[in-house]
Amino acid sequence: MRGLISSSTAKTKAIEIQLKELSESEARKNAFKILGICWLGMLIMLPLPPIHWVSTPGLFIAGIVLFFKKYRERIYLEPLKTVCLECNAEISCKFQAFTPPISLVCPSCRYNFTLAPEEKTAG
Ligand SMILES: [Zn+2]
Repeated sequence: MRGLISSSTAKTKAIEIQLKELSESEARKNAFKILGICWLGMLIMLPLPPIHWVSTPGLFIAGIVLFFKKYRERIYLEPLKTVCLECNAEISCKFQAFTPPISLVCPSCRYNFTLAPEEKTAG
């Protein structure tokens, strides 16, 4: 599909982006991974008063919330490379959940860009 990169200086550029839809089992695996990280963190914090009063329930709830968030994230952006609209340096974008607009930062000039589907910016 077509994506549009726009900079804070109102420059825009259309690029081709590849999306990947995760299967049910891949999404479930990602969801359990984040749940495991949160609950492992919770167990590590458990013997540490007084921060465990906040971290234990916080990580317990965060694990559940992130589990459902990850489980619903089925559309992923394939890694892509493009050039900076300001300095022409190469910008790469890693494999990540496609939740537009995605923000990109040029490693060379530090300008911020947003990547969104082209259709959405028309209206
Ligand atoms: Zn740049």
